[in-house]
Amino acid sequence: MARIPAPVAVLAVALLYFCGAALTCQFERWHGGVAIIWFPGALLAAWLHACPRRDWAALLLACGLANVLAAAWCGPGWMPGVPIALANMVEVAAAATLARHALRAHWPDTTLELVALFLLGTLLVIPACGALIAATGAHAIGHAGFVAVFRGWMLGHAVGLVAVLPFAVVALARLREAGEAVLGRRTGDQGGHGHPRVASMLMVTTMALLTTCVFVQYEDWPLAAPLLFALFAAVWGDVLIATAMPMLVALIAAPLTLAGYGPFADADHVPLGLLYAGLVACGSLPVVVEQARRRREIARLSHSAAHFQALSARADSLIDELRREAQTDPLTGLPNRRAFYAGLAVHAASDEPTCVAMIDIDHFKRVNDRLGHAAGDAVLRRFAELARSSFRAIDVVGRIGGEEFAVILRDVSVEQACRICQRLTDRFAGTQIETPFGPVCVTISTGIAVIGRDGDAAMAAADQALYEAKRAGRARLASAA
Ligand code: GH3
Ligand code: MG
Ligand code: MG
Repeated sequence: MARIPAPVAVLAVALLYFCGAALTCQFERWHGGVAIIWFPGALLAAWLHACPRRDWAALLLACGLANVLAAAWCGPGWMPGVPIALANMVEVAAAATLARHALRAHWPDTTLELVALFLLGTLLVIPACGALIAATGAHAIGHAGFVAVFRGWMLGHAVGLVAVLPFAVVALARLREAGEAVLGRRTGDQGGHGHPRVASMLMVTTMALLTTCVFVQYEDWPLAAPLLFALFAAVWGDVLIATAMPMLVALIAAPLTLAGYGPFADADHVPLGLLYAGLVACGSLPVVVEQARRRREIARLSHSAAHFQALSARADSLIDELRREAQTDPLTGLPNRRAFYAGLAVHAASDEPTCVAMIDIDHFKRVNDRLGHAAGDAVLRRFAELARSSFRAIDVVGRIGGEEFAVILRDVSVEQACRICQRLTDRFAGTQIETPFGPVCVTISTGIAVIGRDGDAAMAAADQALYEAKRAGRARLASAA
């Protein structure tokens, strides 16, 4: 989307500001032409908060002129309009600067100290400065009394800023996010703020009804209800809804009070109605910030928890992988010496009749010498395949040395073990092994022993039998029994 040219944007904002100011002048009260609640100033401050600083001067100048025009046309006239406009623009610039520091770009991503600073500035310092300029100007040109203008200005502008500015800042930020989402610059659920719309609508409706009910009757005690509901919304509601609550109270309570309804019905007590709206804002704003901080913390913690869970799962699978690798011979994929001896110890401890066979490839060195190490490796791999397929799944075949293998044969006698191993001997002798450097035919010798209570003794006996087989001419087996 093409960026709106700055002059057009400035004119549009000034026009809106003029409409807001003219409308407010219709509802002015007291002799100084003072609004009950000054909305346009808070909205303009929120707009400046979202704008680059280089746009501020043009916006303030255009809106200042719009303010003078509105005052001249619908308000107290040209002469008082000038100090009023000046006071308003000073106030707006100060409020926007304060909001930049205290509410930061990602409001309510701020601290309670900064919120306290914001409340102090918007409730006291800024409206007091504006009121001083406006009341001095109005008094100097003889338009109205200093105290009346100062008091009315101070209250209307303080409530306007404190009740509207935080909401307007959030609303503008959300509008910008929605715009960026439409333009595809944002992805995921950044625009969705995790609060169901129905709940938000319900909260707004409830607050509007509650405040209306409280401000059309004349008892004091129900005044606690909107305040409590604003706190409830601050804890449970979306930030936009939570910051809308004080504004709703101000919008409903002030006109009703002025019209002679509610607990502050007496016209002299209109300031009390305004103070009440300010009180709701002061009470709920820190809760909104604290709640936002907690939500951020919880999100951060659950993100870290998920991260650590993923890390722990990765560590578990790495440990499994390392354990597998530590027990496996990389060339043949058979259990290595360590794994084989661990299995042997388990079987030695059981009462099952079990045998161990120690197998050695005959004259293997010659293969290496004639055809090279790679051919030797191919022979070892092929032997491992044959051995694996020659024994049962319950038997354990392992590579315990260079060209030495061993097998635990479960639940067999020595005779049965000899028959099984003879089959392997014959198969291997009759197999021509293809290597990258030509076919090879090799034989094996095997020594067999019964595994008693001592696995190492059984291995020594099988080794001795293997030695006998070698001595007897190789390509055969011998048993220790
Ligand atoms: P015998 O019949 O008496 O067992 O003779 P042999 O040549 O098989 O026995 P010897 O112990 O003299 O030689 C074994 C050879 O196995 C020596 C060594 O280089 C080779 N070797 C050990 N591990 C590997 C391996 O992983 N790959 C290859 N290619 N050769 C290996
Ligand atoms: Mg050997
Ligand atoms: Mg050998």
